[in-house]
Amino acid sequence: MEFINLKAQYKEYKAEINQKIYEILESSRFIMGEYVSSFERSLANYVGIKYAIGCSSGTDALILALKALDIKKGDEVITSPFSFIASIEAILLLGATPVFVDIDEKTYNLNPLLLKNAITPKTKAIIPVSIFGQMASLIEINKIANGIPVIEDAAQSFGASLVDNNKKYKSCNASFMATTSFFPSKPLGCYGDGGAIFCSDDELNDKLRCLVNHGQTKRYEHSFIGFNARLDALQAGILDVKLKYLDSEIALREQKAQYYNKHLENVITPFVENGHQSVYAQYSIRCKDREKLINKLNKCKIPYAIHYPIPLHLQEVVRNLGIYKKGDFKISEMICNEILSIPFSPFITEEEQDKIIECING
Ligand SMILES: *Cc1c(COP(=O)(O)O)cnc(C)c1O
Repeated sequence: MEFINLKAQYKEYKAEINQKIYEILESSRFIMGEYVSSFERSLANYVGIKYAIGCSSGTDALILALKALDIKKGDEVITSPFSFIASIEAILLLGATPVFVDIDEKTYNLNPLLLKNAITPKTKAIIPVSIFGQMASLIEINKIANGIPVIEDAAQSFGASLVDNNKKYKSCNASFMATTSFFPSKPLGCYGDGGAIFCSDDELNDKLRCLVNHGQTKRYEHSFIGFNARLDALQAGILDVKLKYLDSEIALREQKAQYYNKHLENVITPFVENGHQSVYAQYSIRCKDREKLINKLNKCKIPYAIHYPIPLHLQEVVRNLGIYKKGDFKISEMICNEILSIPFSPFITEEEQDKIIECING
């Protein structure tokens, strides 16, 4: 059994993806060019935002977003302690200070009620992480931010949506900027590394396009220090094919998640807020005695993963800053001790799900 069945997905779209790859090989336009810009247009259309800028990974997308905002040493950037390391890597690489706000016990997303107290005159950006595929409380967060740029880390939530006051928002269009990842196992994955940044500001779009490409304004003219952080044409072509099927995959994700929700016993299943559509980047359950659950899964030879065993404020790289200690963000610490992700993908079969359910309930 696979933890995430990427092979089944490839089989589903194989003819179309192979054809696209060969077409790009024949064109030999591997860097920039029409395949990338065409995919960027599809992306922006899908999300319903003015600009989508392809880049080399979800991590680089965060670095580029912060760099475009001129985040530097002495600045504070607020984020969630319950995330993948990339969420703070960008902050630390630019020499800024990560400031954490604990999460909501049910959604595992940044708790907007705690945000206000974390904002200081040094706060230059807020990065809510839309964890496990459910959008963070971006509408509330935008209000509290009151003009401080909000960047959604949407690496796990591309395709998710929420309805607020009869208005529908999609992940990546509900904040000042957003970043996502096309790492193979993400809801929209490529066949290598890739990512994107989203914004609706013209100047920011221009700046981001320079930054991903060596700070180049015109050919061989460079006005500031940039990166080599482009999305390549092969990945863009593959993603353009897969994007067409994303909504049908999200419907399958919902169906498979409901099946788990209905049949799993004695564990806490994912909580999705009213009005939200999660894309279940992971199907993560919680239980007090995780060791016992792990023993059961091992016995049944069922793969699992722990997203995440250590909250960000207790990672060694952050501990070295000497700002945070154990006990500072109790909800995140508790969830890190109880959380466990089980096999999940749009292509998981009912037979596989039954085997997993039987093992966990048994
Ligand atoms: C995967 C992930 C990233 C980083 O994406 P990469 O493409 O692997 O660099 C950033 N943030 C979160 C929350 C992620 O899950």
